[in-house]
Amino acid sequence: MKTFVMKAIGQVGFAEKPVPRPGPMDAVVKTTMALICTSDSHTVRGAIGPRENLTLGHEAVGVVHEVGAEVRSFKPGDRVVVGAITPDWGDPASQGGHSSQSGQALGGWKFANIKDGVFAEYFHVNDADANLAQIPSKVPDEAAVYCADMLSTGLMAAENADIPIGGTVAVFALGPMYGADATVDFSRQDAVAAVMQFTAGAGVDSAIEALGADITFQNAIKVTKPGGTISNAGYHGEGEFVHIPRLDWGVGMAEKTIRTGLCPGGRLRMERLLRLVERGRVAPTLLTTHRFRFDEMPKAFEMMDKKLDGIIKPLILF
Ligand code: ZN
Repeated sequence: MKTFVMKAIGQVGFAEKPVPRPGPMDAVVKTTMALICTSDSHTVRGAIGPRENLTLGHEAVGVVHEVGAEVRSFKPGDRVVVGAITPDWGDPASQGGHSSQSGQALGGWKFANIKDGVFAEYFHVNDADANLAQIPSKVPDEAAVYCADMLSTGLMAAENADIPIGGTVAVFALGPMYGADATVDFSRQDAVAAVMQFTAGAGVDSAIEALGADITFQNAIKVTKPGGTISNAGYHGEGEFVHIPRLDWGVGMAEKTIRTGLCPGGRLRMERLLRLVERGRVAPTLLTTHRFRFDEMPKAFEMMDKKLDGIIKPLILF
């Protein structure tokens, strides 16, 4: 089968690989649509170290091709979405409520990290009963594919931010995912000063860091009032350290909580996200700015990497 891989740091291209086979609890999915993520670019640039001929991609929908003997809830032909994070649900970390960290730190992040990803004609899914979700008939593939990562991560950022009723929230790197009462263009004004002005000097109850840069992380801490929560959803892909501004953190005693999270996966969460899409509570396909065939992947990847032509999310059609 045809796959699109990271050959080495900074190098991508197509590679031929055998169609994977499922273990007893696993499934193999025939890919129908996928989205390229900025995380894929980070990975190719070396953010998680070197990889050799690793299939990229972690956001996909498809049709079940084959299931293992122990899989009860899915059969070949089912239209499914697979979370970007596919935890080992029997792991103690999962039992402790941290399924994204099953096995090891970030261990739920398998696709294009510790195993081949979804930019392939077929891909393997562990723990199929727990990691696949049926797509409702009213939800098209091109909308369902947003549940894999974008919707799950964006909502996680808000969930982790512990936003009180009527609370104030500052989102750094708003991106395409959120509504806002007011926006600040950081290239024209000081973001911290602007947020403090919006809140009459009090700061916000919750800040969300959605970029993965040291400066936005620091700013998120600066604008959060004592007792507030900083929710980090960004992928910090560069540098040795992320810095906490000491005084703005109340020299460690201002009760400013920093919470981190990796996109939750799993069938229950995917089903809930699909329900939001089915009921029209979110319209994710507005984010699809470009469409490519799988054989156009090199061009699509370069455009996403360099953020050309106003690209937000490129949809890949298999
Ligand atoms: Zn992603």
